[in-house]
Order: sequence, then structure tokens, then C-alpha cells
Amino acid sequence: MFGAGPSGLAAALAANQAGRRVIVHERCSDVGHRFHDDFQGLENWTTDGDVIDELAGLGIEPTFDHTPIREAVVFDPRRVHTYRSPRPLFYLVRRGARAGTLDFSLKAQVLARGIELRLGEGRPLLREGGVVAQGPHGSDAVALGYVFETKAADGAFAAMSDRLAPKGYAYLLVVRGQGTVASCMFDEFQNKQVYLERTVAFFREQVGFDMQNARRFGGAGGFDVPPTGRRGDLLFVGEAAGFQDALWGFGMRYAMLSGSLAARSLVRGRLDDYDRLWEERLGGLLRTGIVNRFLYGRLGARGYRGLAWLLDRTADPRSLLGRLYRPSLLARLLYPIARQAIRSSRRAGLRRRQPIGTG
Ligand SMILES: Cc1cc2nc3c(=O)[nH]c(=O)nc-3n(C[C@H](O)[C@H](O)[C@H](O)COP(=O)(O)OP(=O)(O)OC[C@H]3O[C@@H](n4cnc5c(N)ncnc54)[C@H](O)[C@@H]3O)c2cc1C
Repeated sequence: MFGAGPSGLAAALAANQAGRRVIVHERCSDVGHRFHDDFQGLENWTTDGDVIDELAGLGIEPTFDHTPIREAVVFDPRRVHTYRSPRPLFYLVRRGARAGTLDFSLKAQVLARGIELRLGEGRPLLREGGVVAQGPHGSDAVALGYVFETKAADGAFAAMSDRLAPKGYAYLLVVRGQGTVASCMFDEFQNKQVYLERTVAFFREQVGFDMQNARRFGGAGGFDVPPTGRRGDLLFVGEAAGFQDALWGFGMRYAMLSGSLAARSLVRGRLDDYDRLWEERLGGLLRTGIVNRFLYGRLGARGYRGLAWLLDRTADPRSLLGRLYRPSLLARLLYPIARQAIRSSRRAGLRRRQPIGTG
């Protein structure tokens, strides 16, 4: 298999657990090179059960730093809201090539099981078939931010505002003196630096925080619902298949799940099963995510306020978020329209946007 991100390493662990010899080829000199020790959220609302338990069921030990977030402060264009949930809304994990990150934890688990990890080895031919886990090929969303040290208190803050993050959201996350502040935008990438600076100014004013040793980071990602995850004897997983939440860009969970499902099909010699397996577990979520993205982008400030209003009226925001992702008749009816609209704006955007980078 190639690609040693969460999807490829989850696939390697699952295949190894089934007794197979596994080789993972990774183009870069280490895992996690795409990331810079920034915090990412491992979402915990699309299932009733906890994501950490689900990962354990896939053979992934939670040896990475993970901080449960039960309270988040959210700014809509007019008001500020505090949402609390009895169970974690998400877990903050760190990404990158450092001890304690998700990437280093998965690497350590892979090596501990004797799986061969060939770092610095780009795309092999995989003549005999295998898993393709090479990460994103599109750029539907761009996140740009800073990681930094701070004296600020722990907290999770988000802002839904086109002034800060067109059609997306801005966030500030602080855990034990480490911080990440970023604008995650789904449009107008050509002005990304402006949105980042506005985001920093906004949170400085609203929350008040200091940034020491600030390092800039950024990246892009894409989403899709592919007609198939298979090409010949190759199974595509994680972002290489387009498996990512289209509404807000949560991709880690889908990446590890799809990697594990692909490995399961591969070791059984039943490649045909893969499409059925990911469709059962992820198909509905992916399609509802596309519909959510369409509505979120279309409604703009009214939609942001409407979502905040709905969340204000629920005793448990986690279960409301779960319901938003649940396949429904309405989502099924809207899906073809949403998919078409997103494809058209993607084509228009390709003409409009400058090449994506962190610069
Ligand atoms: C800035 C940013 C913030 C994000 N925040 C969140 C968040 O808060 N929550 C969340 O759930 N998701 C978030 N995501 C998305 C999440 O990081 C991805 O969905 C997830 O990492 C996808 O995992 P993957 O294994 O599919 O791909 P990747 O993590 O991209 O891993 C792919 C690997 O394949 C390697 N590779 C590429 N080409 C080759 C080749 N030809 N040969 C060999 N190896 C190759 C790459 O070097 C890389 O190591 C964020 C993404 C970005 C960019």
C-alpha cells in the first residue's frame, strides 16, 4: 500500500491483524509531514458510540494525545453561544511529525507490529494490487493558520462568518499552553492571508490570547462521493477516495475507517466487498455532508444564525449534530441538486482561484 497518513496506517494495522505481511510506501521522509503540530478535531457526533472506542475496535490504540472537548464557544455573525455536551463533541488531537501526534502514534503502532514502513519511497507500481492512501487530490477547502505557545486558558472557539472564513469557519483551540488559530475557508482562497489576519484579530478582540513563537501552517483538502473506491486491484481510501466530511472538512475518522474496511476486503480476497462496506458505513454520511455543505454555503449568514439558533434550543448539541448528518428523505431528495451545484461552483472556482499553497 502507499501513503502513510491515517488511512494508510489504519489499513496496514488491519491487514497485519489479519495475519498479512504488509509494506507501506511513504513518499516523505517521515509521517505527518503535511502538518505542523496543529490541533485537529476528531469528530464524535456521527455515531452514538464514542470514536475512541470505534478506533479501538479497528485495532488502533489511543496512544496519541487526545483531549475531549465537551464545551465550545461559537460566534455567529451576531451573537455568541456556549454549547455544552455531557459526552465529548470531539477530541483534539495533534498532527505532524512529533511525539504525541496522531501520526507518530500510528507509526509507532505499525512499527511495533513489525509492519514494514518504507519512508522516502514515492508511488510504487503496486502491480499485485493494494491500497492507495495518498491523500487529497482536490482542494475544495483551504485552512491557513498559526500554531503557537500561549498563556491563555484552555478553550475551543469557532466563528461562522464570511468575513473571517468564506463559507467555512474560523477556530481558536488552546490546550495546556499550545494553541492553533486558523481560518478554514471554502471559497475565495486567493485572499486567504487577509482572512487569516482577520481571524487572529477577531479572536484577540473577543477572547484575548497571546501568541508566542507563532508558526504559520496551512493545507488544502477535497471531498467526493466516488461511484466506486476500486480501480482494478487498487482500493482507494481516505482523502485519496474523497472520503471527507464536506460540511466542515472532518476527514480523519473517515480516513481510518475506510482504510480498515479496504484492508478487510483485501485480506479476504473480496475486493468487490469494499464498495459495499464503505457505502454501508460512510455513504449516507458523505451524501448528507454534501447536502449540508450546499445549504451552509447557500444560506450564508442566515444559515449560520439558524444553525446556532437550533443548537441553542437543544439540551445536547452532540445529538443535534449527529441528526444533521443522519441520512433522511430530504437529504436524499436534495443530494443530486447539491452535488450538481457543488460541481458547478468547483468548476467556476478553478477558473477563479489561484493555485493552492500555504504561501
Ligand atoms: C489544515 C488542515 C486542517 C484539518 N483539520 C481537520 C480536523 O480538524 N478534523 C479532521 O477530521 N480532519 C481535518 N483535516 C483533514 C484531515 O487531515 C485529512 O482528512 C486526513 O489527514 C486524511 O488522511 P489520509 O490518510 O487520507 O491522507 P493524508 O493524511 O494526506 O496522508 C497521505 C499520505 O500519503 C503520502 N503520499 C502522497 N503521495 C504519495 C505517493 N505517491 N507515494 C507514497 N506516499 C504518498 C503523503 O506524503 C501522506 O503522508 C484537516 C486538513 C488540513 C489540511
